[in-house]
Amino acid sequence: MISVKEALKTILANITISGTEKVNIMDSLGRVLAEDIVAKRDHPPWDNSAMDGYAVIFSDIRGASKKVPSAIKVIGEVPAGRMPAVKIGRGEAVKIMTGAPMPEGADTVVRVEDTESTGSMVSIFKECESGENIRRRGEDVKNGDLVIEKGKKIRPAEIGMIASVGRAFIYVHQRPRVAVMSTGDEIADLDEELSPEKIINSNSYALRSLAMDAGCIPALLGIARDNKEDLTRRLRDGLTSDVILISGGVSMGDYDFVKDVLAEMGMEMKFWKVSMKPGQPLAFGTIKGKPVFGLPGNPVSAMVSFYQFVMPALKKMGGQKALYLNTIDALSDENLEVKKGRTYFIRAVIDVRGGVYHARSTGDQGSGILTSMVRANGLIVIPEDSGPVKAGDKVKVQLIGSLSQEGLGF
Ligand code: AMP
Ligand code: MG
Repeated sequence: MISVKEALKTILANITISGTEKVNIMDSLGRVLAEDIVAKRDHPPWDNSAMDGYAVIFSDIRGASKKVPSAIKVIGEVPAGRMPAVKIGRGEAVKIMTGAPMPEGADTVVRVEDTESTGSMVSIFKECESGENIRRRGEDVKNGDLVIEKGKKIRPAEIGMIASVGRAFIYVHQRPRVAVMSTGDEIADLDEELSPEKIINSNSYALRSLAMDAGCIPALLGIARDNKEDLTRRLRDGLTSDVILISGGVSMGDYDFVKDVLAEMGMEMKFWKVSMKPGQPLAFGTIKGKPVFGLPGNPVSAMVSFYQFVMPALKKMGGQKALYLNTIDALSDENLEVKKGRTYFIRAVIDVRGGVYHARSTGDQGSGILTSMVRANGLIVIPEDSGPVKAGDKVKVQLIGSLSQEGLGF
C-alpha cells in the first residue's frame, strides 16, 4: 500500500496540461490564465491629482495658514480627461479635478476644502506637504511590468487589471472534461422508482460538483450495474472525456469488477489502495494516457479522496499553479485516536476563538456519514508517522468551507 504523498506524486506525474483557448474577459471569471499579462503603458500614465483642488508650486504656499493665507493667481483649470493647456509659474495655480493630469511647473495639490476662491485669485489657508495629493506616473504599474502570471485563477481583481492594460481577449486553459460514473446494483438514480433494497445515488452529484469547483466540465455516465457488460459500455462513453472518475466497485467484494474491466480496456494500473482513512480503496491508472480514478463508493471516502488526489490533478490539468486546499494550524479541542501507519482525514468544525483556530471533529467518522461532510468546514490531517492527538495539540487542517463568523468579524 502506498502513502498519500506517494500516491499524489504518481498521479501528478501522469497529468498533462490542457490546451488554450481565447475568451473575452467578460467570460473569464474563474478561468485559468494561460499567458502572462504584461503592461504596455504606465498606469497612471501621467502624474495626476488625487483631490479636487489647486495645483500649485509648494514654495508659494509654504507657511500658509488661516491667519496668513497665501494669495495665488488662478490661470486656468484642468478637468479630468483633458491635458493641461497652461504651464504654472511663480505665484500661479491651476484649478484641478481628481484624476486630471498635473500641469507643468506645479508640484503640489491643495485640497479645495483648504482654499477660498475670490475672482481670479485663490486664498490658501493651510500648508500641505510638498508633493502632497499627487498620484505619480507608473505608481501602480510600469510599462513592461508582469502584472499577472499565467496559471492564476481569474478573480474580479484580475479581470479589472487585465482590462486596465487594455486587453479585451485573453488566452485561458481549456477546461478539462470529466466523466463521472457511479457503480452498484444497489444504487438508484433520482429518476428511478425507489425500492427498499436501494440506496439513492449521491456520489454522481457530489463528484460532479467537486469537478466543477475544480474548474472542469463534468459529464454524467449514470450508474453502471455490477456486471462487466454495463461497466464496459458506460466506460467506453467516458473515453471521450479527459478524465474518468468512477465511484464504487474497487474494493475486494465479489461484485467489484471495476479493476478487471479497466484492465480489459487497456488500463495501466499505477496503484491500488492508499494508506489513509477514510478512502483506502483508491485505484489510479491511465487508458492511452487518460487518467482514470476508481474512487471508493462510500460517499465520504469518495469526497475525501477527491479532495486529496483528484482535485490537484484536475487543477494541474486545467493549468492552475495553486493545486491544494488551504491548510492552517489549529488547536484540537479533543483527543483524537489514530493508528500509526496511515494518514487520517478527520471531518471537523473549525472556528476562531481569541484569534486562534480551534478544531473539533464532527463526531461519527464512519465513511458513510455524509452529514459529517455537510457540517465540516475542515479536515484535520494526521500524517501517517504521527501518533494520537491530545486535546490542546496543534494540528494541520485543510479548509473545505468557510469559517462561521458574526457580522464583519472585527
Ligand atoms: P462499494 O465501494 O461499491 O463497495 O460501495 C460501498 C458503499 O458505498 C455502498 O454500499 C453504498 O452504500 C455506497 N455507495 C456506492 N456508490 C454510491 C453512490 N453512487 N451514491 C451513494 N452511495 C454510494
Ligand atoms: Mg459497489
